[in-house]
Amino acid sequence: MKKEIICTICPRGCTVVVDGDAGNVNSVEGYSCKRGLEFATAEFVSPVRILTTTVKISGKENDLLPVRSKSPVPKDKLLECMEVIKKASANVPVKRNDVIIANICNTGIDVVATKDVK
Ligand code: SF4
Repeated sequence: MKKEIICTICPRGCTVVVDGDAGNVNSVEGYSCKRGLEFATAEFVSPVRILTTTVKISGKENDLLPVRSKSPVPKDKLLECMEVIKKASANVPVKRNDVIIANICNTGIDVVATKDVK
């Protein structure tokens, strides 16, 4: 199975074509540097994304706290993580980088605040 992946490591945005199946890579074409090769291979085998969203603030019905995952989350866990975040709420005051949800969906990844809220 061939998959076209746009490398997002730098603004050049090379289109990299990875051929493989079930997590095995047979060939990679179209990259212009080693970083692109590594990015496309990882994206094919196990795609991940930084999760960026908001969480309700306890006691403040219309206010939301911006949050993000501290490191990239496996793409196939994103919806499950969003369900947890939707039900969560944060107590304020909170500082940037405070953990709002620890070990979300047993990924080992924390969801942290991205700004201070008093
Ligand atoms: S393959 Fe290399 S040159 Fe091309 S977008 Fe990726 S990092 Fe940039």
